[in-house]
Amino acid sequence: MTDLFNPNDLDVHSGHFIDGEISSGGDPQFDVIRPSDLGTQGTLADASAQSVERAVHSARRAFEQSGWATMAPRERAGILRRWADLVDRDAALLARLESSVSCRPYQEVFMRDVRVVSGSLRFFGEYCDKVDGRVTSTPNDTLSLTLSEPWGVVAGIVPWNFPLILSAWKFAPAMAAGNCVVLKPSELTPYAITHVAQLALEAGVPRGVFNILQGHGATAGSALVKSPEVDYITFTGSTATGAQVMADAALHGLKPVSLELGGKSPQVVFADAPQLDAAAAIVAAGATYNAGQVCFAGSRLVIEASIEDMFIEKVVKHMTKFRIGATWSKETTLPPTIHGQQLERIHQIVTTTLSEGAELLCGGQRLEGLNGAHHYAPTLLRGVTPEMTVYREEVFGPVLAVQTFESFDEAVALADHPTFGLAASVHTTDINKAMSAARQIQAGTVWINDWGRRSDFTSPFGGYKQSGHGKDMGLAGFQKYRKQKAVWILGQQPAPAPSGEHRLAG
Ligand code: NAD
Repeated sequence: MTDLFNPNDLDVHSGHFIDGEISSGGDPQFDVIRPSDLGTQGTLADASAQSVERAVHSARRAFEQSGWATMAPRERAGILRRWADLVDRDAALLARLESSVSCRPYQEVFMRDVRVVSGSLRFFGEYCDKVDGRVTSTPNDTLSLTLSEPWGVVAGIVPWNFPLILSAWKFAPAMAAGNCVVLKPSELTPYAITHVAQLALEAGVPRGVFNILQGHGATAGSALVKSPEVDYITFTGSTATGAQVMADAALHGLKPVSLELGGKSPQVVFADAPQLDAAAAIVAAGATYNAGQVCFAGSRLVIEASIEDMFIEKVVKHMTKFRIGATWSKETTLPPTIHGQQLERIHQIVTTTLSEGAELLCGGQRLEGLNGAHHYAPTLLRGVTPEMTVYREEVFGPVLAVQTFESFDEAVALADHPTFGLAASVHTTDINKAMSAARQIQAGTVWINDWGRRSDFTSPFGGYKQSGHGKDMGLAGFQKYRKQKAVWILGQQPAPAPSGEHRLAG
C-alpha cells in the first residue's frame, strides 16, 4: 500500500472558530477517532450553552455591524472569489485534514471535494449581483416592488459523509446572499472546515460572518437550533434527526428550516438498457461508492425479470472487485465504515433481511482493515420485497437490494418508495419510457442511463417525501437564503371631491 500522507503528521485545531478566533472556550474535550486505523487524530471541544451563545452573538453582531449584508453585492462576490482561490491554493492540506478523520479517500477529496468548495464560492458569488428583485404587474397607479433580503443568522448543521462538500453547499450560498453563518460540522469529521474558515478571514470576509461551532448533535446542535438569535436553519443528516430539528425549530421561534435527509434510491434497469455491461458497472458503483455512505446511494436495483440473472451476474463481478484500506492509501477502493456501531447496524439489517427470506449473492460480512478498522463487504441481496427490513430502512452501507418487474407500470410502482424520494435512475434506450418514468417517479433527482456522476452547481439537489424539502445548489439553493419583501408605492391619488358634489351626485 502506498501512503499519500501520514495522518500523525497533521496538526488539528480542537476549538471553535468564533468571531475570527480559534478557542475552545473552556469546553470539555473528547477524542476524534480515525475510521481508517482507529487512531486518535486529536480532541474536540464540545460546545457548552455559553459557546453556542457566543457563536450566535458573533454572527448576529457581524450581520448588524460588519457591513457584509449591506456592502455592494459585487464587492461581496469579489471576496468570495478570493476565498475560492485560497481554498484551491490549500487543496492538499484541506484534503489531508478531511480524509484523515472521514471515510473520503484523499485523492478524491483533493481532486473533487475541495474543488466543490471553491466552485461553490465562485458559482454562488456570481448570484450576488445577478439575482434581482421584481416589479410586479399591478394597476398603473401603483408600483409594487418585490425586494429580497438576507434572513440574518443562518445555522447550518451537516453530517460526516461528505463534510466539506455538504458544508459548502450551505455556507457559500448563505453568505453570498448576505447572511452570517454558524456552521456545526459533524463531531466525527470536524477539522477541515476550520481551515476553510481561516481562509475566509484571509480573503477579507469580516470577522464573525462565518463561525464554526464544534460538538455533539444532541447538545451543541440542538442548542444551536433552539437559539433565539438564529433566523434560518439549513440541515443535512438523517431523517430522524431532521424531524427533531424541525420540531425544535417550530417550538423555538417557528424558524424556517430546509432539510436534506436520507434516501432509499432505486436504479431501474429495463431489458433495452444501452450497454448492459456499462449499466452493471454504474449500478454497482451507485450502491458501493464511498462504502455506500452516500445519501443518494442507489441502494435498490429494480430489474426487468427477463435479464435478471444475466445482469445480476455482471453486477456481482463488479461488487466483488475491491480493495479495503485507509483513506490515505493510494490503492484503496473500499474505504472504511465510519464506526463500529454503524458496521453493526449494517450487518444487523443484512442478517435480519436474510432471515426474512432474501437470498445473499455476495458480501454479508464484516472485514477488518488497518488495526481492526471497520469495513463491510459489498453485499447483494436478491428477492427483496417491500416488507423486508432492507427495503424499509436506509442502510448507509454498501448493500444493494434487488427487486424484479415484468411491466413498465410495475417498474415505476416499485421504484417509488413509500417513505423516501431523494434520487432515482432509469436505464433504457427508449426516450419515451425514460421520460415517462422520470416524470412519474417521486424523487428530487432522476438520472437517465447514469448514476450520480452528473451533478452540477446549476442543478438543484434535494428530496421529495421524507428525504427532505428545500434544495441545495442551483438558483433555488441561493434564493432560499433570502426572504421576500413587498414594497408598495402609490401613485398620486385623484383629489377628493368637495363634499357638496358628493351630495349632488347622491
Ligand atoms: P445525523 O442526523 O446523525 O447527524 C447530522 C448532523 O446533525 C450532525 O452534525 C449531528 O451532530 C447533528 N445532530 C444530531 N442530533 C441533533 C439534534 N438533536 N439537533 C441538531 N443537530 C443534531 O446524520 P449522520 O449520521 O451524521 O449522517 C448520515 C445521514 O445523513 C444519512 O441519513 C444520510 O442519508 C444523510 N445525508 C443526507 C444528504 C442529502 O443531501 N439529502 C447528504 C448527506 C447525508
